[in-house]
Amino acid sequence: MPVIFRNLRWQLAFWFIILTMTVYIIAAVLGCLIFKTAMSHFVDYELTALTNELVPVIDVIDGHPSLQRWKKNVFKGPFRYLPMIQLYDQDGKLIEAYGPPGIPILFSSGKHTRKDIQEETYHVRVHSVPLRDDHKLIGYLQLELSLKNVDGALYNFAVTMGLIAPFLLVGFGLAGYFFSSKAAKPIEESFAVLQRFMADASHELNTPISIILANAESIEADIENESVKARLATISGSAERMNSLVGDLMLLAKMENSLVLSEKSIIELDKLITIVVSDFRELFKAQSVELKENTLEPAQIFGDAESLKRLIINLLQNALKYTDKGGVVEVSLKTVGNQSRLTISDTGVGISTENLSHIFDRFYRADPSRSRAAGGAGLGLSIVKAIVEAHKGHINVESSPGAGSTFSIYLPLKS
Ligand code: ADP
Repeated sequence: MPVIFRNLRWQLAFWFIILTMTVYIIAAVLGCLIFKTAMSHFVDYELTALTNELVPVIDVIDGHPSLQRWKKNVFKGPFRYLPMIQLYDQDGKLIEAYGPPGIPILFSSGKHTRKDIQEETYHVRVHSVPLRDDHKLIGYLQLELSLKNVDGALYNFAVTMGLIAPFLLVGFGLAGYFFSSKAAKPIEESFAVLQRFMADASHELNTPISIILANAESIEADIENESVKARLATISGSAERMNSLVGDLMLLAKMENSLVLSEKSIIELDKLITIVVSDFRELFKAQSVELKENTLEPAQIFGDAESLKRLIINLLQNALKYTDKGGVVEVSLKTVGNQSRLTISDTGVGISTENLSHIFDRFYRADPSRSRAAGGAGLGLSIVKAIVEAHKGHINVESSPGAGSTFSIYLPLKS
């Protein structure tokens, strides 16, 4: 499977997990809030109902409210499940209390009051109402209901949601990978058809181009007429350009099908670089660009020699193409951890930030006039990237206009 699809599947699966987990977390938080609100309403309803039952049976004894008669005559059961019932005088002093322990402080501010009170040992919902006799304030009735069970239920709910999360993560991950594979399949199939077409077309074009080239060259050799010779040279030049384009497309198709992997062997990268660099010396000299071979640390990698050679050639060709007379191109090879880093830097025209993100796209030319004049079709760096990926490496570019460019290729060392 081509690398881009392997990445696409994982990327789709990753976003599917992120999306579903976000929805799950939002649902869990909302669930907690809804649960808490529902429980609060329920508690308030209970407190209001009890208040409505109690207020009419409160006696007024010596100007103070009292529930003693109610307790004696009406209520006989245990108080355990009830709120704490408290009666205060008009100054807020506790005068009677029934039921389980609570907080013996009046929380009313002269009006109906409902609030949650959190103290060290207690978390209670408080409901207090002012009591009047002939419009005169005689005291307060305050009910306090413990929220211990509500808090416990809420805690259990949150813990359960948290415990389910890792299982959901695995489930969503598997589902995400399964669905993304299904979603990517039609794209993969059309891509495969396109790739096959590209490979076949390039292959089919190869023979007629070679025939044109061979014939043009042989006629050129036989003919004396200079003007015809010049026209034939144009034909061979164009045919050669077409030949190299077809070669590039065939190589790209080969890379994307990972065919290069079958041709891997142990490569001494430093030696390979020395060979390619020495092949380029004359060309650089002819264009008055200095080619410096800096430290080349010995590095063995498991790869395809022809492709790696092509990678170095493409980068050196670009460095030369985009560096003016008097410029310098430097090549170095260093070991960084378990990777080998090949650096090719130049003092050339550089690349702007907006172009930097596109230079590895096929047929992309940041400076079309300069690139075309130098015979570039915008495939060189796509091939470099495909070769690097086929070797499980990565590429990094640092560049800015006028300040030159540095291409760093990281390839895993042979273990
Ligand atoms: P081309 O055949 O046009 O050189 P490439 O794929 O090799 O195609 O490069 C894509 C584009 O990236 C080029 O058109 C050029 O604008 C830019 N580029 C590549 N290498 C360099 C470099 N060393 N310095 C400046 N620009 C570069």
